[in-house]
Amino acid sequence: MFVPCMTMIKEGTIIAVDGHSSTGKSTFAKLIASRYGLIYVDTGALYRGVTLYAIENSLIDSNNIIDETSLKDALEKLELSFRPTGVDGATELFIGERNIERIIRGLKVSSKVSFIASLPMVRSYVDTILAKYGRSGGVIMDGRDIGTVVFPNAEIKIFMTASAEVRAKRRYKEMISRGENPNFESVLANVKERDYLDENRDTAPLKRAPDALLLDNSTMTIEDQLKWFEQLIAKQ
Ligand code: C5P
Repeated sequence: MFVPCMTMIKEGTIIAVDGHSSTGKSTFAKLIASRYGLIYVDTGALYRGVTLYAIENSLIDSNNIIDETSLKDALEKLELSFRPTGVDGATELFIGERNIERIIRGLKVSSKVSFIASLPMVRSYVDTILAKYGRSGGVIMDGRDIGTVVFPNAEIKIFMTASAEVRAKRRYKEMISRGENPNFESVLANVKERDYLDENRDTAPLKRAPDALLLDNSTMTIEDQLKWFEQLIAKQ
């Protein structure tokens, strides 16, 4: 449901929401997009889409060794696109005509995505898509390097975090609600592994931009977080 807000966000604004995995960045960003009339872009979905393609075409093996030459060729013709669902400004990711929104959220893709996302050629493929959204502004993007690398001049930067256990519990519940049968320890291990890989890669590692506002939501509800944001905008 679109709930317009009294406080307006300046036209053309880019809001960068970076942070650790499973901090609820997308829920937060989607609600803000819907309240303030912005376009929401889930940048992690694009890395997940490339990863799904790599898995299905055997371009990454069980030891996470990547066939970089074939992946480079594939990226030249890989067509990833967001399509609106018609609900609350939400979108779903497609490869060509195939809806991959659900499959990219599973553990199979989650366990490989940080390896694929560490490759400079994959990052520049995704950045080219993101640059198109940035041109007109009026967007909120969530990811890992939006405020540091993709849009270092973004008007508003937020860095979200929460303890690894809290995040794993959230992801675990989300998977159960999708009818999956996850093992909590594996979900927690995946959250920690992705933190490590995202923070320690050479290209565009996850880090807080010096001018990003910290939002630790370990003990905050989504309503608390929206209130926090509303106060932030009111002060601008
Ligand atoms: O946000 P989400 O958890 O869906 O992102 C999946 C993965 O994609 C992250 O763990 C990270 O490795 C990668 N990613 C990234 N840069 C972004 C967004 C996501 O490296 N801007």
